[in-house]
Amino acid sequence: MQVLKFGGSSVANATNISRVLDIVTKAARKDRVALVCSAISGCTDTLLGLAKTEAGSAERQVMLQGLKARHDDIIRRLFTGKERDEVSAKIAGLFDKLAAAPEDEMVTFGELFSTTIIADKLRCEGIRTKWLDSRILVIKDNETLTYNNISTAVALEPKVEVFVAPGFIASEYDGKVTTLGRGGSDFSAALYAAALKASRLEIWTDVPGIMTANPKLVEAARTIPEMSYQAALDMATHGAKVLYAPTVKPAMEAGIAIHILNTFEPENPGTVVAALPEPKVAGWVGVTSTDDTLQGESLICLVGSGHINGEASCVRTEEALKQAGIKTLSCSSDGTNVYASVRLAVAREALNAIHREYFEIAPRSVLEVYIAGKGAVGSALVSLIEESAGRIAERTGKVLRVAGFSNKHDFAQKVCKTAPRGSIFVDVTDSETIYKEYEGLLREGINIVSSNRRALAVPFVEYAAMHAAAQENGVFLRYETTVGSALPVLESIAAGANTGDELISIEAVVSCTLNRILSEYTLTPCTFAQIVRKAQDEGLTEADPRIDLSGREALRKLLILAREAGVPLEAEDVEIEPVIGAEYAGLSLEEFYAKLEADEPRFAALESAADAQHRRQRFVASLVKDPAGPHGYKASIRVENVDASHPAYRIKGTENAIIIRSTYHPYPLLIQGAGEGARLAASSVLNDILK
Ligand code: ASP
Ligand code: MG
Repeated sequence: MQVLKFGGSSVANATNISRVLDIVTKAARKDRVALVCSAISGCTDTLLGLAKTEAGSAERQVMLQGLKARHDDIIRRLFTGKERDEVSAKIAGLFDKLAAAPEDEMVTFGELFSTTIIADKLRCEGIRTKWLDSRILVIKDNETLTYNNISTAVALEPKVEVFVAPGFIASEYDGKVTTLGRGGSDFSAALYAAALKASRLEIWTDVPGIMTANPKLVEAARTIPEMSYQAALDMATHGAKVLYAPTVKPAMEAGIAIHILNTFEPENPGTVVAALPEPKVAGWVGVTSTDDTLQGESLICLVGSGHINGEASCVRTEEALKQAGIKTLSCSSDGTNVYASVRLAVAREALNAIHREYFEIAPRSVLEVYIAGKGAVGSALVSLIEESAGRIAERTGKVLRVAGFSNKHDFAQKVCKTAPRGSIFVDVTDSETIYKEYEGLLREGINIVSSNRRALAVPFVEYAAMHAAAQENGVFLRYETTVGSALPVLESIAAGANTGDELISIEAVVSCTLNRILSEYTLTPCTFAQIVRKAQDEGLTEADPRIDLSGREALRKLLILAREAGVPLEAEDVEIEPVIGAEYAGLSLEEFYAKLEADEPRFAALESAADAQHRRQRFVASLVKDPAGPHGYKASIRVENVDASHPAYRIKGTENAIIIRSTYHPYPLLIQGAGEGARLAASSVLNDILK
């Protein structure tokens, strides 16, 4: 069984009722339906007005005629022939009863009119339909009896496809007809659902679900896809009209999810109210308000989920109101929600201010990205941006647009001339010369993200000039990827430097290639030359593996690391003990490999010497505090035999390890993890773009 409830605007006229019938007949094809309806829109108000008029007065007569005319019009449009006459007669009979009814019962007729018409129409469509009298079945404040009545009534009719029941109306325990309160049809539906152990409860209304604010007051309000029973109860209790607060309890107790849907947009998934696990991180659900016209105040409730920091949330709320020029009269929190009161006259503005603060992401900024370098990282970056654009926009409010992707030599210059300020130039080349364009780009207000370590390992004056240009022009120059790929190495070093934490040492095992070669050499019976060749075949080395073996790659990384720590290191300050000496330099690649093979006994001897001490060979770039060294540090790059207590002892393959010691930190900071791969590098570049 499924329970579908339609509100007053969903049944306001023949056109809308036809939509309802469509939705109901579709649902009935899947499972039996209990259909609960409100009176046609405005009807309940009219009936309440009617009850206040003098019996037999002309005023009452006019009101009755007006209301009857609206129903007759619906009948005329929905029915023809004999069926039209029948339903007209039923409605006329009900109007006679209304005219004669005690004034306090008049309000109960609206739902009788609407459901009588709808039940007859369903019958005409050939659907086995049964009208249920909620005045007999629903006993106010007695759920046990109500559930019994409803389930028994339905059990007696196994062949019926759609039960139609008026919402809102009920009777007292003593049989007197009554109502469940304004908006009570939602509650009726929940009672029917609980009584029938329904698989689904759908509340069809004229807005797309429960929204972050009343869309009539806050234009930017949006649908909340799912929320807990408690949050729905809080929203409803504190002013959200879309759901009548008492509805939540029966549904919650029966464990039935409440789907709030829009009759005028039936494909919209709307809101699901269900038992949700308590969120680990507190969040915000929506903002509602109730007006206290007597006090001239509006009570705003910012509904949260999970345990919020009440005090901080009050401060944030008051600040947001203050910025909108609104004085907060009072503000408090119960640990989940925030309550603020403001003058009635500024209620709408206050709702908008709070909504803006908590629910509207910062204005979406479009970031134009120009990517130089069509290698593996560049291609990975382009696909990564394509795949994650939606998520990025959702999480950060930033819209990324790849405005250029090129390998051409003059690309940077072109970008410099044509790209709008605030764009991002991405250097994923390995060009030695492209850095010459950096300063010009930065001076044009173009940000730079680079994974090209050659561009940063330039003489310090050049490096400093780029940074100065970035600072002066309010743009960024980021290059986290240049050392340890996606590992947060530079960020960690900068964090220490920014806060005056003095660097004692950095030990960096950051040459993927050498680390891979050395760690594999330990483990396999291959010769050193064979392992180098294998690494080259896999594309792990530079085009000429001697660049890796000479320590030049490691040197660039060490320069970048040191400078990030505030040490203006230059290449000539670094002592390098390369894995292979200068004697390899002038050879062709084949001669080089031949010589490497011939030198195998030397490599083997080094390896067994380390092994004898239970140590492992690691290629370490280090910067160690030393008052005698240039800039107060000694910088070196060499193979070290590290023992088992060293963090680099265990790392293998293309893993990287960076060990940072500083005065504030009693234990070294160890950053370790994958340091290789185009996709990884692309993700790191993307993070620099988004930082
Ligand atoms: N017709 C009733 C009202 O207007 C009940 C409802 O629509 O939920 O309050
Ligand atoms: Mg309602």
